[in-house]
This record gives sequence, C-alpha cells and structure tokens, in this order.
Amino acid sequence: MRHVTVLGATGSIGTSTLDVLGRHPERYRVHALTAHRSREALLDQCRRHRPAVAVLDAEEDAAWLRGQLAEAGLATEVRAGREALVEVAEAREVDTVMAAIVGAAGLLPTLAAVEAGKRVLLANKEALVMSGALFMDAVKRHGATLLPIDSEHNAIYQCLPVEHRGGLSRHGVTQLLLTASGGPFRGWAWDDLARVTPDQACAHPNWSMGRKISVDSATLMNKGLELIEACWLFDARPDQIQVVVHPQSVIHSMAAYSDGSVIAQLGNPDMRTPIAYGLAWPERIDAGVEALDLFRVARLDFEPADEVAFPCLRLAREAMAEGGTAPAVLNAANEVAVEAFLAGRLGFTGIGELVARVRDECPVASAGDLETILEADVLARRAAQVWLARQ
Ligand code: NAD
Ligand code: MG
Repeated sequence: MRHVTVLGATGSIGTSTLDVLGRHPERYRVHALTAHRSREALLDQCRRHRPAVAVLDAEEDAAWLRGQLAEAGLATEVRAGREALVEVAEAREVDTVMAAIVGAAGLLPTLAAVEAGKRVLLANKEALVMSGALFMDAVKRHGATLLPIDSEHNAIYQCLPVEHRGGLSRHGVTQLLLTASGGPFRGWAWDDLARVTPDQACAHPNWSMGRKISVDSATLMNKGLELIEACWLFDARPDQIQVVVHPQSVIHSMAAYSDGSVIAQLGNPDMRTPIAYGLAWPERIDAGVEALDLFRVARLDFEPADEVAFPCLRLAREAMAEGGTAPAVLNAANEVAVEAFLAGRLGFTGIGELVARVRDECPVASAGDLETILEADVLARRAAQVWLARQ
C-alpha cells in the first residue's frame, strides 16, 4: 500500500491523479489533498477519498471546510497556509508525493518532498526550472525517486535506458526529440497574434489543462520551460534537444541513439497515462485511458517550430544557456505576464515582450542557494510589474 499526498489536488493534474488513484484502492491510500482556494472542490474530494489531512491557503477557507467535514462526520484534519503544504509533503506517513501545484508556489513543498526522500511525481515544471541544479542535487543527496509526469519527459524517461545518469552520450543517446503540439495558434503570424483573447489561448487543440499552462502552450513558453526541464532531468545540453512540432500529440517525445535508432512513446493525449506510470513505476497499472487506435490517428505530421512568431521558446533556450538565476527570472516574468494576459491587462504578444524586457533588466547571479533563487524571483516579478504599469 502506498500513501500519497497530492499537492494541487483540485487542478487538472490533481483531478486526473485522483481518478487513477480511485481505480486502485487496494494499492493507494490518500494521505493529504491540498488546494489554494477551491474549497468546494476540495470538500468534494475529501468526501470521496477520505484523506487524513486537507490543506487550503487561507484560514477562513480552512474553517469553512472544517465545518462542512464535521457536519458530514468525516475525520479529515484541515490546515491552512504554506507551512502546512510543506508538512504534508514531508510527512512520515507518506511515501509518494504528486507535485501538481502550478508555478513558483510549488517550489518549497516540492523541494520538501525531495529532501524527505519521497517518490516525487513532478508535474510542477516551474519548480525545476527555477532551481534546477539545487533541485537535482537534493534528489541525489536525499535519495528521492524523481519521476517526470510532464508527458514529454515521461515519454523520454520511458525511451531511455533505466540507468541514464551521467550524460546522454555515455548511453549512446545522441538527441532528445521534444514534441510540441504547436498550440492553438500554430501557423499564425506574429501580427495576427496581437488580438487573441484568453479564451482562444486556453482552447488547446489536444489537451485539457489549467489556464496558466494552456497560455504557456499557446506562446510556446511551455516548450521552452520543458526544454530547461529536460536539460536538468536528463543531464542534457540545450543543443542535444530538438523541438519537433507534431500537431496530433500522439508521439509524446523520442530519444535518438548513435546506431540510428529512434525510440518513441505513443499514446492518446491523456495525462492519466504518465500519472499512472509514475504511481506504479516500475510496474504498470490501468489508467482508464482509451487504447490508441492508429487507424483513427491515420497520420503523424512533423514541422519545425516558428521562433519568430513565438519568441518565448528562444528566450527560454537563452536563459538555460546563460544559467544561474536566468531561468528563475524568465519563469517569474512569464508568470506575471500570463496572469496579466488572463486578466485582460496585457496583449498576447506582450507576454514575450515583457519576458524579454525583464531578462534584459535583471542581473543574473549564480543559483547556488535557495535564498538567491527566491530573491531573483521577487526582483523579476517587481521589474515585470513596473513594466506593466508603464504600458
Ligand atoms: P491547475 O491550475 O489546473 O491546478 C493548479 C492546482 O494548484 C490547483 O489545485 C490549485 O488550487 C493549486 N494552486 C494554485 N496556486 C496555488 C498556490 N499559490 N498555493 C498552493 N496551491 C496552489 O494547473 P494544472 O494544469 O493541473 O498544472 C499543474 C502543474 O502541472 C503546472 O506546473 C503545469 O505546468 C504542470 N503540468 C500540467 C499538465 C496538464 O495537462 N494540466 C501537463 C504537464 C504539466
Ligand atoms: Mg508537457
């Protein structure tokens, strides 16, 4: 029996995780579920999954949930605040943590799970982008098991030899092929992108996801963050990773070997596949995902990414190449930009402009400790807000 904490339980990844867990009550027990403000959704999940602990951000919401649970006769303990997130991530009763909070807010609880040596299912790519070297070092030092949930990285993980540490070339891998759907605006020119709305940007052709990652997919910043994520997870240099636009999202990524072999992982675009992989690894369990019907797919297309209309991919590659706190600055500026876009305060093409401006303005330090990384995050957010206020 594995005991699981789901950080960000009410989100897109969180609900898919609970769907998979619910299919295997003999294998998994939910220890804790956390959400930011969605107290009704969390109440519903508590009724169904009976966790020992539930966490919300504000005490007011926690008090409401406590009342509702007491009325329903459920024994779940309710806590509030960031400290509580860290506690349920490192709790002794827990062996598996799904890190599915969106954005920088997920960094501290995810790191806490790593430092407690848990099996960490990493969906929260922003945490790794911000703190790559420190994060991977903590994984090694504390003997954590890190399993990528991002579909591309999960695919690459499945295509690599079981032992792939110490550089790709040692294992005969010449290149990682990171597939991208191209998002809802694939083929659009920069000029046409200026007036797109948040709802258009969030209408992804193949995946249903939270709003932040949906916008990232539309700007291709998501692929940029994933490029950085892949460098850390697989000990790769940016030039060993090729982004391949593949609109059907059936091949989730590939690894190319020196003998000419290319190994790919295929499946329907459903996050329950990588989630089930991470939960059951090294075994396999039913994820509730429909079998892939290749005749219905019929064809697989590939094209290069357009980095002129979608500059965020290039900005991310440059940040990774520069190193230090540059990826943390990029991520923070992007989070502010996406929030402003979703709130109608910034145009779609303004996202890349804002990120580029903040990267120009903010100095880059070496990212040896958490304080430096968090400070870079705060300064970049401030610079982004100042730029926004001037628009
Ligand atoms: P989402 O917005 O649907 O859900 C986010 C969850 O985090 C919610 O439970 C929310 O309550 C919680 N949360 C938000 N802000 C918080 C804060 N400040 N403090 C504590 N909790 C907070 O997001 P999602 O689409 O499920 O994505 C989650 C993470 O997984 C992201 O980092 C995303 O990049 C990554 N990811 C998602 C997908 C996908 O298909 N949705 C695929 C790959 C990777
Ligand atoms: Mg992905």
